[in-house]
Amino acid sequence: MLTVLCGGVGGAKLVAGIAAVLADPSALTVIVNTADDWQHLGLHISPDVDTVLYTLAGLAGRERGWGIEGDTWAALEMLREGRRLTEVTHRLREALRIAPVVLPMSDDRVATVVRTPAGRLAFQEYFVLRGARDPVTAVEFEGLERARPSPEAVDAVRSARLLIVAPSNPVVSIRPILALPGMEAALAQSAALRVAVTPLIRGEAVKGPTVEMLRGLGMDAAPHAVVALYRTFLDVFVLDARDRALTGSVAGAGSPGRALEVECADTLMPDDAGRRRLARDLLAIARARGVEIPVRPE
Ligand code: GDP
Repeated sequence: MLTVLCGGVGGAKLVAGIAAVLADPSALTVIVNTADDWQHLGLHISPDVDTVLYTLAGLAGRERGWGIEGDTWAALEMLREGRRLTEVTHRLREALRIAPVVLPMSDDRVATVVRTPAGRLAFQEYFVLRGARDPVTAVEFEGLERARPSPEAVDAVRSARLLIVAPSNPVVSIRPILALPGMEAALAQSAALRVAVTPLIRGEAVKGPTVEMLRGLGMDAAPHAVVALYRTFLDVFVLDARDRALTGSVAGAGSPGRALEVECADTLMPDDAGRRRLARDLLAIARARGVEIPVRPE
């Protein structure tokens, strides 16, 4: 019924808020970026899938962002047995008793590589080891041409009535999902109302290198640049209320001939109440456009 595209921490906060306010949290499906995945000592690590699962289970370390200790061994054994990442995620979700459906974007390997003056860096090398300090001049997704979105993810796009692009890093969290062959077309053809939430407030990211990455790729670090990345499918862009003055520039960044509506909301999610508030506001934005998804009474 409701499908969210997301990366790690920023997206997971909204996903948790939505799950908390829905009358039926199992009506929510989350498609998660896996281009940050990496192998360490032979182990497969999916930071964004972990973050979403742990946030939904109420286990995530709020500051650290991803990972709790010692829990994915069984899943790793499953991957070694040749199971799909989708199945492994399903098992983890069951073990953590999470109601929303969590889907890796693909079962195939896609790896974000960042070009910097210091050379090409694997995403985790850039992000974790080097602290996201290198200027980024290009971002590539290795393996993308051969990768396919998982059938479950495509289904979740096709069957949704409301699609939300979470406030995640548009360059390295959302773009890999959109770039999977067939995914952007499925979004463009979907009958769902398609809404994206700004990851920028007053020209800044709440956390992480979104501004630096947009600039490094020659884009403005502003909501209209985010809209441009989603313009082939987007119906509504939710701007932060502090940036109301940007409404015109954002509306103008949509595709020619395709009306883009702009709404404003307090998009900052400093705590659980903030997550739920934004979730309710988004569901009200959908309701005002004829897409009614039942919410819990406040
Ligand atoms: P990562 O994979 O852990 O970096 O997480 P994401 O890609 O999901 O999220 C990073 C993006 O989320 C950054 O651009 C942040 O500005 C944005 N973000 C994080 N928290 C919030 C928030 O509370 N509100 C809004 N609007 N954006 C946020």
